[in-house]
Order: sequence, then structure tokens, then C-alpha cells
Amino acid sequence: MTNTAPSVDLTQLNSFGVVATADGLLEFNRMDQVTDVIKLTQQQPYLILGGGSNLLLLGHLPCQVIHVTLSGWRYHDETNEHINITINAGENWHNMVMQTLNDGYSGLENLSLIPGTVGAAPVQNIGAYGVELKEYLQSVEAIDLKQGKLVSLDNRSCNFDYRNSYFKQNIGRFLITSVTLKLNKRFKPRLEYRPLNELAETATSSNSDSQSATSTLTALQVADKVIAVRQQKLPDPDALGNAGSFFKNPIIDKAHFLRLKSQFPAIVAYPVDDQQMKVAAGWLIDQLGFKGVTHNGAAVHTEQALVLVNQNNASGQAILELSKQIQQKVEKVFGIRLEREVRLVSEQCVTEYNFSNDNFANISHSPDSLNL
Ligand SMILES: Cc1cc2nc3c(=O)[nH]c(=O)nc-3n(C[C@H](O)[C@H](O)[C@H](O)COP(=O)(O)OP(=O)(O)OC[C@H]3O[C@@H](n4cnc5c(N)ncnc54)[C@H](O)[C@@H]3O)c2cc1C
Repeated sequence: MTNTAPSVDLTQLNSFGVVATADGLLEFNRMDQVTDVIKLTQQQPYLILGGGSNLLLLGHLPCQVIHVTLSGWRYHDETNEHINITINAGENWHNMVMQTLNDGYSGLENLSLIPGTVGAAPVQNIGAYGVELKEYLQSVEAIDLKQGKLVSLDNRSCNFDYRNSYFKQNIGRFLITSVTLKLNKRFKPRLEYRPLNELAETATSSNSDSQSATSTLTALQVADKVIAVRQQKLPDPDALGNAGSFFKNPIIDKAHFLRLKSQFPAIVAYPVDDQQMKVAAGWLIDQLGFKGVTHNGAAVHTEQALVLVNQNNASGQAILELSKQIQQKVEKVFGIRLEREVRLVSEQCVTEYNFSNDNFANISHSPDSLNL
């Protein structure tokens, strides 16, 4: 079950396609392996891996990789309005979105084509085009590796926030085994975000009654639009290694925003509440002329400033260095510290089990703790 080769190649298991290795790898594909998984995590450092599309791996990781490939799903608890689906963690997220839409259930259409597994989706509360996973998530089943038992967390316990969750705040503690989502039987389009609002406009212009216009729209049509836009906008990791948005969109207070607005009138931002604004990180990076900038094989994508790419056999270290250049310049010019959305996994950053106090130690992920 555990690969006993001295080192396991992870190059094909991360969407940046950077060369990385680990001490060993366990394919976790059956629930009767739970005891083995718990034992392993009590004895050795480990990394929980799904599709590897939100990770930046740095060289050799002295740990066991637990590759979650649990498959299968089932519908249950159907009412007139809703149906629940429980999906095992190793299923591909996008395939499951299409499965539910083809089965006639809506809700996930705006989240089409996000790479990765279902089990990783709650970790950063995946979101796109005005919709976040938390709006449809009922519960998460996981192994609590700290307590060594299976647990169920309801939506509230997951503590979801923008690209954040209880799982991210306690990284390495929970291994998610399945996710239960509540889907709609009646389609309610979510078209507030550009360019999806074009769908409402197109439908309205060809039908004078706007109510019935959007009602002719199907969830599959929205998914098709999302897929087309994403394919046009974002580089395909199979063709050009990347992990999507490298940084989160920073949230700043209104006074700070107004100061920036007077200096940079074109700044792109959206209100979070009365006090705070969410600034488009891509706009900040683009303003500083980073599009197309390269560093030892790493590059800022020429179309999407928020996406760093492995252009020419870059190492994880090169991508990290480029990201630090961006962070430093953005902080200097705009007074904003960009936070990584992508999880950095280095020798020091794998989760280690600390035998002495029966507790988990998450070694610092702060960039300052890394020697560049
Ligand atoms: C081209 C591209 C576009 C993207 N667009 C978006 C987008 O629009 N919105 C968005 O939110 N994200 C986006 N992402 C980021 C990424 O797809 C998501 O974060 C996705 O959920 C990661 O899934 P994964 O299986 O690849 O996770 P991995 O990269 O393998 O892991 C990510 C984190 O989750 C943990 N993890 C993985 N599986 C489990 C599990 N079963 N239990 C517990 N922890 C686990 C890992 O330890 C790690 O900390 C994009 C990425 C790419 C490459």
C-alpha cells in the first residue's frame, strides 16, 4: 500500500508541474484504510494531497504523501425543492458539477471547471462568479487525525470565509473523506457577476418579458458560458503549469481604499461591507507592469497578472521568488500585503506529529521563515 521507493516523484501530481519528491506515497482509496492512515500520521510527517492544483511544492518533502482518491457518490434526502448528494473526496470536482447538472440539479454551475478534487473544495471554500461552495455545503465527513476518529462537521462548524475554512485554519488536522451538498431542483440563475450578466442581457433582448427571459435559461447553459470564459481567460495547467490565482484579493479598510482611489482613480475594488473593500489583486499586479515578467523559468501570465506560470522548467523556488518580488512591490506602492492563496509546501511546512505533547505542530508558513 505504501510506496517504499526511496523517493516518490510528485511532478505529475502538482498542477504547476514543478519537480518535487517525497519519502513515500499512500493511495487512500478505500475507507477500510482509515486505521492505517491514522497510524501513519501518528508516526511520520505527512502531506494530504488531492489534485495538487492549489499547492506550490519546494523540492524534496521529507514526508509521506496521502493521496486521496476515494471515489463514488450517492443522492439522498430528496424533497420537492432540493436533493442532497454525498460525494467521496477523491472525485474530480468539475466532473461532479457536470454530473449533477446532467442529472437535472442546479447550484454548482458557476463553479464549473475549477480543477481539483471534491475533498479539497471545502479547504479553501472554492468560489467563482459570485458563488462559494459554502452556499451549497451541508456537511463534511473527515478523519480528525488529532483525535484519531471519523467526525462530521456541519456547515457552521466549517467556519467558512473568503478562501478560508476551519480546515485551512487547522491544516493537516482533518482528512476530508466525503462532502454532502444540497442542490436545487428548481434553477435560480446567479448572473450578478460579469460576464455572466451578459446571459441575462442576451436573453432579455430576445424576449421582451425579462422574467420569462431568464426562465428559459438552463443551468447547463450557464455552465457552458462559465467553461467558455474560463478556457479563454485562464491557462490550462496541462499546457502551462499554474495553480490559478496565486494571491487572494486583499481586503482593506475604506480609509485606505479612499487614499488609494485618489492616487489611482482606476483601482478595481468591491465593497465587502460598510467598512471594508476587496481590491482586485490582479489589477494591483498589472499596474506594476508584472504581466509577462519572468524569473528563472517562472513567469507572470501575459493575460492574467494574478496567475503565475511554470513557463520553462521552473523550480518551485523560482516561482516562490517571483511571488515575493510581486509581494514586495505591491506592498511598497500600495501599502497592501498580498496573501498567498496557493499553499506553500516546503521541507519545513509539512505537518508533523509531535509525540511529546500529543499535539499537532504546523510549522510556520510565513514567507519570512524561508531562506531565499
Ligand atoms: C487553472 C486553475 C483555476 C483555478 N480556479 C479556481 C477558482 O476559480 N476558484 C477557487 O476557489 N480555486 C481555484 N483554483 C484552485 C484549486 O483548483 C482549488 O483550490 C481546488 O479546490 C484544489 O483542489 P485539489 O484537489 O487540487 O487540492 P490540492 O492542491 O491537492 O490541495 C489543496 C489543499 O487542500 C488540502 N487537501 C486536499 N485534499 C484534502 C482532503 N481530502 N482532506 C483535507 N485536506 C485536503 C491539501 O493538503 C492542501 O492544503 C484554480 C486552480 C487552477 C490550476
